[in-house]
Amino acid sequence: MGIPLRFEIGNNEFQVREITVTRRDLLTKATLKLNDKRLTEKISALLRTISKDLRNKIAQTYDEQIQDLTELSFKNYLEEHNLEHDKMYLVNWCGTQKCAEALEELSEFALLGFDLELKNTRVDCSICSEKGRISVLAKRY
Ligand SMILES: [Zn+2]
Repeated sequence: MGIPLRFEIGNNEFQVREITVTRRDLLTKATLKLNDKRLTEKISALLRTISKDLRNKIAQTYDEQIQDLTELSFKNYLEEHNLEHDKMYLVNWCGTQKCAEALEELSEFALLGFDLELKNTRVDCSICSEKGRISVLAKRY
């Protein structure tokens, strides 16, 4: 995004000792008094809010792009659905080369490895049913 806030101070603002602050992500404007003792505090709060909003937006986008198939039969799911190329899928994988190749061949997606956030979650492999971990499948470009 670059610079998160735009400050405007023209003749009119200068006359009344105000600045217009625009949030560049939402294009919302606020007018602040230049002699406000809490001016820097208010600007810092605005920057923290922008940072928090961006983190939430990224987390939401991430959630929308990941589909969890770990509770389903992967093979049955593939018989009824096409995987969407712009999504990632969570599947269960035991860690063997043989099952990685089977997952990739069935899905035509690439196995990226274990989901690090869920690395301690033990599940049964989608292919061989041996103990495995939640892993990520995504389209390879
Ligand atoms: Zn396996």
